[in-house]
Order: sequence, then structure tokens, then C-alpha cells
Amino acid sequence: MAEEAKFKCLRCNYEYKAPYSPEAGPQERTCPKCRSNSVRRIVEKK
Ligand SMILES: [Zn+2]
Repeated sequence: MAEEAKFKCLRCNYEYKAPYSPEAGPQERTCPKCRSNSVRRIVEKK
């Protein structure tokens, strides 16, 4: 099952949420704003 994860673009600092499935492995992400692929997943600690 896919869960929602937060992503942040390192280029324009845009943050967004997208479905994320750990089983799918590393996926290429593209920033919806500047189309850069320098997107990092933000791990939120509780
Ligand atoms: Zn961006």
C-alpha cells in the first residue's frame, strides 16, 4: 500500500506531498514547480 510522503525540492525549496511506496524502491522524482530532479524525501519523526 502506498503512503503519503513529503518531498522537498532542493532547487526551489518547494515542498509537496506525493504517494510513496517503500516497496517500489528508489524512484525518480521531479519537482512539479521547476521540474528539477533534485527532490529529497522528508522523513518526519514523531
Ligand atoms: Zn523545484
